[in-house]
This record gives sequence, C-alpha cells and structure tokens, in this order.
Amino acid sequence: MAKIFCIANQKGGVGKTTTTVNLAAGLAKLGQRVLMIDLDPQGNATMGSGVDKRSIQLSVYDVLLESASVAEARVRSDKLVAAGCSYDILGANRELAGAEVEMVELERRERRLKTALAEVDKDYDFVLIDCPPSLSMLTLNGLCCADGVVVPMQCEYFALEGLTDLVNTIKQVKANLNDDLRIIGLLRVMFDPRITLQQQVSEQLTAHFGDKVFETIIPRNVRLAEAPSYGLPGVAFDPSSKGAQAFVAFAAEMLRRLPNAH
Ligand code: ADP
Ligand code: MG
Repeated sequence: MAKIFCIANQKGGVGKTTTTVNLAAGLAKLGQRVLMIDLDPQGNATMGSGVDKRSIQLSVYDVLLESASVAEARVRSDKLVAAGCSYDILGANRELAGAEVEMVELERRERRLKTALAEVDKDYDFVLIDCPPSLSMLTLNGLCCADGVVVPMQCEYFALEGLTDLVNTIKQVKANLNDDLRIIGLLRVMFDPRITLQQQVSEQLTAHFGDKVFETIIPRNVRLAEAPSYGLPGVAFDPSSKGAQAFVAFAAEMLRRLPNAH
C-alpha cells in the first residue's frame, strides 16, 4: 500500500511546494516509487518538476471531475529521468481553480481523489500531495485520502499560532471524513541558525511537539530557490548543495520513521 502524505500549511510561501518536489526527488533517489500530485492551481510543483503546466493534456482537474483516470493523466519528466531521481507527476494549472465551483454539485465531492488513487495504489510506495494555502475543496480532497500530513514551517514568531489552526483543521477532518489522518511531522525549513529567534522558536517547537518534529532541518539555501527556474527540484538541480543534501537526509529519515516502507 502506498503511503499518502499531504504537504500542507494554510500559510503561503512557507515552503510547501519546495518540500513536496524535493522530498519526491529524494525518495526517488533512494529507490522509492513516487507519485507527486499538484493540488495547487498555481501549478508550481508541476513546473518545478520539469513539466510545462500550459502544455499538459490532462491534469488533476480531469481526475477530480472523473473525465480521466490517474493512469491516463500522470506524466514523467525527461529532466527528472536524466537527473536520476524520477517520479510520476499528476500536474495542475489554472483550470484547477474552476474545479472548486464545478464540484459543488457533485456527490462525494471530498472523496474524488481518494477514489481515483485507489486504482494506482499498487504502483507506488509514496504519494505526495502539494496542497494550496487554504482549506478549500481541493485541500479537503487531499486530506481525505491521506494517511498523514507533513507540515513545513519557518521558525518565526507567529509559527506556533498558525499551527494551532492547522491542528484544529486536521482534527475536524479526522473526526468527520478520514479517521486515519494524523500529523506525520513538522519540518523546519528555510532555517538560518544565525538568527537567535529562529533557534528559540525551534526549541519551543521540540518542547511542545517532541518527536513530531523531524530531526532533519532544511537550511535556507539559495540553490533550492534557484532550482524551480530550471524546472527541477534542488535535489536534482544541484545534488551537492546543502539544501539538496538536507532533503535527501529528510527522505531517509522518512523511510526510517515508517516501519512498513522499504
Ligand atoms: P509554498 O508552496 O508554501 O507557497 P514555496 O515552496 O513556493 O512555498 O517557497 C516559497 C519561496 O521560498 C520560493 O521562492 C522558494 O524557492 C523559496 N524557498 C523555499 N524553501 C527554501 C529554502 N530552504 N531556502 C531558500 N529558499 C527557499
Ligand atoms: Mg506552493
């Protein structure tokens, strides 16, 4: 059975997409079969995986509206294959923004993605879902099919406050729609150890959440920020950079933490 994780945080610009594509590439590098689903109409995870969002024939939109299966809509990126860390991509573009409205009338609308994924479950060890920064019908579809949530966060003053909202949302979804849902862990990203406040918030996080905080810390690293403009995750763009190495270490930590993964 594939492990299905949402990469979620209701704040924008906190590193969700960077985490999704680099964890996907890191797991692929470690021999795992990975499907990356872009649930954000901005399509950044699609572009950042080397797939042009303007030219995709079928996307996650078609899957949600049941006009295509995952097997029909998934694509591979030549760039990722060449870099030796390839994963399948279920892409997104602006069309996805309309899905929200179009799905209002449909039955079981929160479970569309879950139903579609059941058909390809055996093809993957991991399914990683890049969520938009809101609790929309799209995010709900992600949370409904996920085993857990990975929460990237910056160690800033309001980080803990934002986390309370997310934890409450996850509790509600767990109670109403998906009893399996849990927080897999909190990932500290864009970390700068020279900033005292970041160290303090990081310590508060571990004090509050204990082993729910991943050991691996993703540093602020310019190569991770440059990689998307080349259509690659940092792990593929510059494997020797500090950021890429941190994400491969994070992928390895993920495998260690999950006893059933191989
Ligand atoms: P989100 O998906 O939550 O909106 P992104 O992953 O797109 O966030 O990240 C926001 C911005 O920060 C992007 O420009 C990205 O390249 C940059 N970024 C993300 N992680 C890092 C990092 N560890 N070091 C430097 N820049 C980063
Ligand atoms: Mg994003």
